[in-house]
Amino acid sequence: MRIVVVGAGMAGARLTGQLAPCGGVEVTVVGEEPYAPYNRVLLAEVLAGRYQADVIRLPDAARGAVRRGVRAVRVDRAERVVVCDDGTVVPYDRLVLATGSNAVLPPLRGLFAEGRGELPGGVHAFRTMEDCLALSGAVRAGARAVVVGGGLLGVSAARALAARGAQVVLAQQGEHLMERHLDQAAGQLLRAHLASLGVEVHTECRVRGLHHATGAGRPVRSVELADGYRLDAELVVLACGVRPRVGLAQSAGLDVAKGIVVDDELRTSDPYVHAIGDCSQHDGVVYGLAGAATEQADALARVLTRNGRNYRGTRALTRLTLNGPQAMDIAAFGETTAMPGDDVLRLADATRGTYRKVVTRGDRLVGGILLGELATVGELARAWEGDEPLPDRASPLHLLTDNGGS
Ligand SMILES: Cc1cc2nc3c(=O)[nH]c(=O)nc-3n(C[C@H](O)[C@H](O)[C@H](O)COP(=O)(O)OP(=O)(O)OC[C@H]3O[C@@H](n4cnc5c(N)ncnc54)[C@H](O)[C@@H]3O)c2cc1C
Repeated sequence: MRIVVVGAGMAGARLTGQLAPCGGVEVTVVGEEPYAPYNRVLLAEVLAGRYQADVIRLPDAARGAVRRGVRAVRVDRAERVVVCDDGTVVPYDRLVLATGSNAVLPPLRGLFAEGRGELPGGVHAFRTMEDCLALSGAVRAGARAVVVGGGLLGVSAARALAARGAQVVLAQQGEHLMERHLDQAAGQLLRAHLASLGVEVHTECRVRGLHHATGAGRPVRSVELADGYRLDAELVVLACGVRPRVGLAQSAGLDVAKGIVVDDELRTSDPYVHAIGDCSQHDGVVYGLAGAATEQADALARVLTRNGRNYRGTRALTRLTLNGPQAMDIAAFGETTAMPGDDVLRLADATRGTYRKVVTRGDRLVGGILLGELATVGELARAWEGDEPLPDRASPLHLLTDNGGS
């Protein structure tokens, strides 16, 4: 069976690694990025100067035949071929779309030159190795950097730039940091932690435009806030979320909602085409997380080799470690804001900068946050991922403390 994978990111490389030992399959991976597949989650460590770029290369990558620097531009489903931008046409028996996400570029005044798609000099998204190396090459001690967006990406980028000695301001439109994962109290602790690393955080702060010099490269000069205030900036990181890359699927006539719609066999509306990772939407959910990309790749490998159960969705915790003089670990999952009738248990220690919270509904765990104190993360992950009724002895307190109470 000729399997063609479009996208040599985390999902595509994982699938290739899983299929490599299987007989009877021939896998070709078409990957637009010129680099060997790498662990995108660790880009912030490269930016922080903690790892060299080649350290984050994925082990699975070596096992597949990746055609690097080649973009798939069209899928002809009738002929079952993929047409690439280098003029090659690759036939498939099964096609796997693993095209990931694109960074969302916010509608800021001055972002694009008239009629052209280039960003002003010093302005970068933070999604690819190319973004990371460009930022890394531009940052220097004392450089004024503004990070737009206070989600997981913006927080990671701000911490990394601060580690390189930049003077970082993080502008977050929402009420607190990492709104998708944390509640207000945890967001406050994270803010204090970033402040201790020298990052100035502004919440409820909307950026409305960029000012840049004219002429070659249009180097950025400042960022303009909604109230007209200007923050000087030599570097700007746009960390305003991601959007599934669905263009190829859409023009091939596949069903696309927010992502490429797939069933429990990760199959799209065409039975010969699958989709995995950030670009896919399973049971109404676009995960946008590395853990889900990995689980979907593993499940698809089982489907393609008729070797095990289908995909039923992912219940992985989101983990983030902010390395630095005092590292901070964060884990979060599920619904972290309680609904009426839910039970909530919180343990907060302002002196140690720790915060732990679980939300339970009846006998089920529905969400939680651990910040700064992750001793019970294993037990919590098992309870969440297993989605079983909580045993009687597992009171919320047991889930938050390794000795049942302290
Ligand atoms: C800085 C950063 C930090 C992150 N931190 C975390 C974290 O802590 N926890 C977490 O769970 N997730 C995190 N994520 C998200 C995680 O990286 C993604 O969920 C994961 O990479 C998804 O894997 P994927 O293979 O679906 O997509 P990607 O890894 O984006 O790979 C898609 C690949 O497809 C290629 N491609 C797209 N279209 C084409 C085409 N037409 N032809 C050829 N190639 C194509 C792209 O160039 C890309 O290489 C982070 C992301 C970033 C950027």
